[in-house]
Amino acid sequence: MPPRTILVFDVDGTLTAARQVISPEMRQFLLDTRKRVPLAVVGGSDLNKITEQLAKDRNTLLSMFDYTFSENGLLGYKGTDPYPIQYLENDFDVIHFFGDKTSPGGNDHEIFADTRTIGHTVSGPEDTKLQVLSVLENYENFV
Ligand SMILES: [Mg+2]
Repeated sequence: MPPRTILVFDVDGTLTAARQVISPEMRQFLLDTRKRVPLAVVGGSDLNKITEQLAKDRNTLLSMFDYTFSENGLLGYKGTDPYPIQYLENDFDVIHFFGDKTSPGGNDHEIFADTRTIGHTVSGPEDTKLQVLSVLENYENFV
């Protein structure tokens, strides 16, 4: 059986330019990618702020990702049901995390350095795209 794999994304500097809204291209990229592998987002701010950056409303946000985590993972949703972030390690064998502030002291460092994730440092949304495509290429060769 292939490993159950999920891609987890930071918001600012990873899916969007810092404090900006997501580009239509990046949104489409996520929709296309989600046809191949489950996706999650982990934002440092609350759900309203994450919604402002990524979707037109909360339901749209929750429908774009399999899992949505706000406040650095404190509050999680699977679709619209509550879902603790710790459950990911039971539901998936391979957890890729993409973030821009992954150095010690950065807000992505903890999840990036966690032994349960494979961490990827990105320089912005375009780089995120390239790194996701590279991960998926290896993933689908394995499958
Ligand atoms: Mg960031």
